[in-house]
Amino acid sequence: MKALRRAYEPLFRNVLYPLYESGLMRRGTLRYLAEYERNQWLPAERIQALQWEKLQTLIAHCWERVPFYRDHWGRAGMSDPAEIRSLQDYARLPVLTKRDLREDFERLKADGYCDRLLYKTTGGSTGEPVTIGYTRESYERRTAVMLRGYGWAGAPLGRHVLFLWGHDPDGQSLKERLHHTAFNRRILNAYVMGEHNMAAYADAIDLDRPKTLVGYVSPLVRLAKWLDAHGRRVHAPETLICAAEPLYPHHRALLERVFGCRVHNTYGCREVMLIASECDACEGLHVNADHLHVELGDPVYDTGHAVPREVLITDLHNYGMPLMRYANGDIATEKHGNCACGRGLPLLASVDGRRMDALRTPEGHFVGEFLEFLVFATPGIVRFQAAQHSIETIEVTLVRGDGFEASSLEILRERFRETCGDSTRLNFHFADDIALTPTGKLRVAISTLSCSAATALTHAFEWIARSGIEPVVMGVV
Ligand SMILES: [Zn+2]
Repeated sequence: MKALRRAYEPLFRNVLYPLYESGLMRRGTLRYLAEYERNQWLPAERIQALQWEKLQTLIAHCWERVPFYRDHWGRAGMSDPAEIRSLQDYARLPVLTKRDLREDFERLKADGYCDRLLYKTTGGSTGEPVTIGYTRESYERRTAVMLRGYGWAGAPLGRHVLFLWGHDPDGQSLKERLHHTAFNRRILNAYVMGEHNMAAYADAIDLDRPKTLVGYVSPLVRLAKWLDAHGRRVHAPETLICAAEPLYPHHRALLERVFGCRVHNTYGCREVMLIASECDACEGLHVNADHLHVELGDPVYDTGHAVPREVLITDLHNYGMPLMRYANGDIATEKHGNCACGRGLPLLASVDGRRMDALRTPEGHFVGEFLEFLVFATPGIVRFQAAQHSIETIEVTLVRGDGFEASSLEILRERFRETCGDSTRLNFHFADDIALTPTGKLRVAISTLSCSAATALTHAFEWIARSGIEPVVMGVV
């Protein structure tokens, strides 16, 4: 069995996957992967030049064939794409928002591409779903970039991987099951994880013995804490890959200690898939700059040490429905300098959360997505909204359904305290329903704290003065 497992990885990577992807499906994924594998070792200046060349071609295409951008950029004073002579010029063009995507969906499609687009809808959990269109080439390139990034983190094609994911394996179709089996992947559903069934997750890891464990940060951290508290040891994978949520330094240290392996962080969003990931040197997340242009826009919060800014993405290969300076709602912190691995791809120091869910602790940690995970992992809660009007308190309104128990709130409060510390108080309120916005969306997080650097700094200094302790510097990996 062991020998079969060892033989399967190279067999899948070198024979089965090429036969399937290039032969049967006639996709260019492996050709693009070879291109991206070469690009990553180019010097930083060559990668910048390559990116700029791709960007110029795409800007001209948008101006010529995408009605939305002619208007959008025209209103900003542009009359010819030749006016964009540098990245600084490009950074002066207006941002593309989720609202633009919803309201101008048809006009964002390039002339001549309408009947050739694939579609996906994103962001249901934030209450603001958007649909995007993309071309077949764009999809193949995204897959290639994802394979490259997961390869850096120790999960190349065919590697035996166990996912701790927000996904119900029992709900999979036979086709999906076969697909995952062929790719040597197993999936555990993180959304039903609770204190009562932690041992079953530990048993599943021991039974499956994956080479790589991939998961959302919150469930991995909860599992690690449970293992630690119960003195339970599990099979140590060779590497652990975190996704979908900010990974704080103390979480990384915990995961590395409990699972006994290196931890790699990755960053992506459904609109463009993998944006950045860590190599073996773990000195920051390498941005896929030969595939995407990632800018960091206005500062959202300033601790005086790290300055998270809003992420603006340009997908350099989606000519069907181009995303140009798209604000995906995330915030991240840049990192200067080169990585020891020798790759020329630029670095992010950290990904710090979501701008719209910018609920935060006095220490500067963003907790929006984590809170959402905790709430929905608690049985019997059908809808929630969290509001922050002061840095010390988050008001949580809950709509209860079947299965809600009196003890649920205490468990929730305790789990939150374990992860985020004592400095933030959660106040719970019950409601029969939560009002939607005038456009029919549910805002899961509302923050009336000013995001201006000056106010944030004032909050931070007030808190530091009160607590008398050293500030935790946000996002430094
Ligand atoms: Zn590196």
